[in-house]
Amino acid sequence: MGRAGDSVLGALRYIVIMASQRLMGGKQGERGKRGEDIPASNPDTPPDSSDPSGVCPRCGRASNFKVLGSLPVSFGGSYIQTRDGEMIPDAIDRVSSFLCMGCGQATAVVEEEWIGDQPAREGRRGGAITWRGIHWWPPPSSADLDEAIPSALRDNYAEAMRALSARAPRAAAVMLRRTIEGIVKESGSEQARRAVKTNLASGLRTMANEHALDANLAKWAEEIRLTGNAGAHFDPMDDVSPAEAEDLARLTRQLLHYVYELPAKLRRAHS
Ligand SMILES: [Zn+2]
Repeated sequence: MGRAGDSVLGALRYIVIMASQRLMGGKQGERGKRGEDIPASNPDTPPDSSDPSGVCPRCGRASNFKVLGSLPVSFGGSYIQTRDGEMIPDAIDRVSSFLCMGCGQATAVVEEEWIGDQPAREGRRGGAITWRGIHWWPPPSSADLDEAIPSALRDNYAEAMRALSARAPRAAAVMLRRTIEGIVKESGSEQARRAVKTNLASGLRTMANEHALDANLAKWAEEIRLTGNAGAHFDPMDDVSPAEAEDLARLTRQLLHYVYELPAKLRRAHS
């Protein structure tokens, strides 16, 4: 690769590092009037009413969305009075349709009402009302995977994302760990493949030491609770929260990008 290629690679690596550092910090929320968390705009998550932008589950591109409409689904038992004096039952979740400005297709999102920093179903202590997505159809985040990623890894990752969107964080974590194990087995050195048998993070660290992976990605893998061994084993102490599974999903997506998509894009740019 020539000098121009090196500088392109350098610039792209910088972007990946900046993106991973930003993601490592997690979702930095704003604060409402009562100091409660308000979800921040995140370009990596699919749309909901609190953030109607992000990755389109249909076309996989970063996009803006228009809400076509919302209908109530579950009712919490209380009523709200409209301006005309009519009493209508108060919904604690609803389904909304989000039209992608890029591909012209819509995504259905089941959204939960939050009041302040807790879901409305857990009580109404006051604070800003936000609607936050909990289920998406079609399931998000696997439409944009490049063909350069081995198909078995794409399948594993897509299954993990389906589990995540169905609120199954433990199942998602198992598939994400399998995806990471697969990356090291497909693309790591013999030493890295040996290391991954002990622990996923040490497999990634070995790849970083051999310059097959950015050191920031390996460090990120150690920071997020990637303590479990590869594959599925039942360990009641080793529970996974939805936030941990989402972190693991972001890391896995960046690993797939760095190891497969980035080199493929550079090869295409040169041919
Ligand atoms: Zn779209």
